[in-house]
Amino acid sequence: MMSPGTTPGGDHHLRSLLEQLECETLVPAPYEVWTGKGTGRTCIICAKTIHSNEIENEAVIRGGGVAVMLRVHSECLNIWQRATRLYEERRPSPIRIR
Ligand SMILES: [Zn+2]
Repeated sequence: MMSPGTTPGGDHHLRSLLEQLECETLVPAPYEVWTGKGTGRTCIICAKTIHSNEIENEAVIRGGGVAVMLRVHSECLNIWQRATRLYEERRPSPIRIR
């Protein structure tokens, strides 16, 4: 178990995602995720194309009666979920989805 603040170096991505979560420019990572083959979509975390030789994860964000599908690489999803966990630990209030 890693506690916030002891994140090893090289986790710039994690920190920046955490900042985005705090600024509400990024939604918390959902637990509902489908995995498939890349279809050339853009990853919302790293903004790079998910190629057909890579795994594409479809993350479903639900809120306000709508569902939005976001595509992310496996490693990006991993960092996003870690950032979300840190964010939730810091902020005990329930997740708000706009
Ligand atoms: Zn990515």
